[in-house]
Amino acid sequence: MDFTPVKKSPNTWIIQPNMPDYNKTYESFSWEAIRAEFEGLPDGKGLNIAHEAVDRHANGPLCDRTAIRWLGKEGNVLDLSFKELKAGSNQFANLLCRSGVRKGERVFVMAGRIPELYIAAIGALKNISVFCPLFSAFGPEPVYQRLERGDARVLITRKKLYKQKIAGLRKRLPKLEYIFLTDTKEDEDDGVCSLSRHLAEMSTDFHIPPTDPEDMALLHFTSGTTGMPKGAIHVHNALLTHYMTGKYVLDLHPGDIFWCTADPGWVTGTSYGIFAPLVHGVTNIVDEADFDAERWYRILEKQKVNVWYTAPSAIRRLMRLDIKPLKQYNLKNLRIIHSVGEPLNPDAVVWGEKTLGLPIHDNWWQTETGGIMISNYMSMEIRPGSMGRPLPGIEAAIIHRAGNETVEVMEEPDIQGELALRPGWPSMFRGYLHEEERYKKSFVDGWYITGDLASCDKDGYFWFIGRADDIIKTSGHMVGPFEVESALTEHPAVAEAGVIGKPNPLIGELVKAFVSLKPGIIPDDKLRLELIGFARKKLGSAVAPKEIEFMKDLPKNNSGKIMRRLLKARESGPPEKAVRE
Ligand code: ATP
Ligand code: MG
Repeated sequence: MDFTPVKKSPNTWIIQPNMPDYNKTYESFSWEAIRAEFEGLPDGKGLNIAHEAVDRHANGPLCDRTAIRWLGKEGNVLDLSFKELKAGSNQFANLLCRSGVRKGERVFVMAGRIPELYIAAIGALKNISVFCPLFSAFGPEPVYQRLERGDARVLITRKKLYKQKIAGLRKRLPKLEYIFLTDTKEDEDDGVCSLSRHLAEMSTDFHIPPTDPEDMALLHFTSGTTGMPKGAIHVHNALLTHYMTGKYVLDLHPGDIFWCTADPGWVTGTSYGIFAPLVHGVTNIVDEADFDAERWYRILEKQKVNVWYTAPSAIRRLMRLDIKPLKQYNLKNLRIIHSVGEPLNPDAVVWGEKTLGLPIHDNWWQTETGGIMISNYMSMEIRPGSMGRPLPGIEAAIIHRAGNETVEVMEEPDIQGELALRPGWPSMFRGYLHEEERYKKSFVDGWYITGDLASCDKDGYFWFIGRADDIIKTSGHMVGPFEVESALTEHPAVAEAGVIGKPNPLIGELVKAFVSLKPGIIPDDKLRLELIGFARKKLGSAVAPKEIEFMKDLPKNNSGKIMRRLLKARESGPPEKAVRE
């Protein structure tokens, strides 16, 4: 990559980062020491996420601190203190108990980012039931698949969503016994109840039962970028990773205001949109509304956000617009910006520094890993285009398969291969629900194989190449789409690019790019040729796209990830519908 590293001098630190020296922390790290920072349930009765994230603070000096500041779509604001969150989640846990919902049973929430979602998440964990959030934008069929595969017993939703997406499915979901609506005052027919009415009848006291740290806590479906989503199982112990990454990656400090823009339907919106900030006792901003650049900048300013966690798709949308945030808004409280979900194009890191006054730190993880695994840190130079270095407590490697059951670890730098992690960190998934074989297949020779391809440089920085499924094989070369996409987005006319291999009888696959342009730019053949030439100069003719197709917007899933498999399906034959959920 031809970007200069973003060097950061300790003189520019506003406050000392939690990890001033990466190597030192990496070497001395132990999970036992992290566990020792937790309180545990009284009388040694185990570890429960809800106790550590909420009750512990509610019972101590942080009791009146705002745990969640909820910003409603219409401009209304609701603050929930740790004490209030404790009381509300106790009521919810009591409601589950009274309904006979037991340990391990699944409580789904599909209601958008509303306060009840957070109360239900914490309340379900108190009852040692399993919290499973869904995007409210899912259509009836994806909702059905997840509820059915997840053995849903309880669903919290809204009236309109119920009527549109659930009512017609009830017969196909015999296990789904309880439906609570967040926006009705009275119970309706057919076992559909008012959440507020029933919660009001419940006591605000609840005694969390003994919880084994290995008890199932969360069921999270993967984003479905490469195929049918998988239901990843996480346990209460996962909170150790949420806490540790909140400390070393997000660099949360007491008194911070934190904002994660992800919806809890995507794992980022749960691990970091709920648990990491709460367990750190900082204020968590929740915005009910969808992306809106002006609104987002206003939130950063008005809420005095210190730590911001967002995604490349959102950053690229901000980059398209002619807004000068540093001139138009006061962003002086921002201390660190992080991004996850897709590769962060190097020019986005640099844009952050120029436009927001701070570089954007990329980090990498998956639904399966439950928390951030590889990251750029406050105290380290950023190498734009790199995902950074493994977290303390995490061993990452580039491996090549040597047969079905053995792998060879690449010790030499800059070799491309599969990104693998040594199992054993607390938020590692404990299974794919009802897919035991698939789960087993993810582990080879003592490594968890992530399904992504990457390389590692001599200083231990990992560089994403692409998903194993997305790699393009063209005239004997292996081309990672990210490299081509990043080269194209450096052109001033380009907003986003999605690159695929188009089947070709002569060369196997031909590199084809789908490109969306910045506002006001006219797509024409002249620009197409210019872009091909621009990419050739940067990448050479073997790797540069041979075809470019302009698109108004690239297809994305609900987590905001570019759906290359849909782009590919357009080229390879099967109708798009067949591969879309
Ligand atoms: P599915 O597994 O159902 O196809 P998904 O992999 O998109 O969906 P997630 O678990 O949300 O579901 O996403 C994890 C994947 O996202 C990673 O394996 C990687 O491919 C991509 N990813 C996440 N962060 C980064 C990053 N910083 N750089 C590059 N890729 C990233
Ligand atoms: Mg995946």
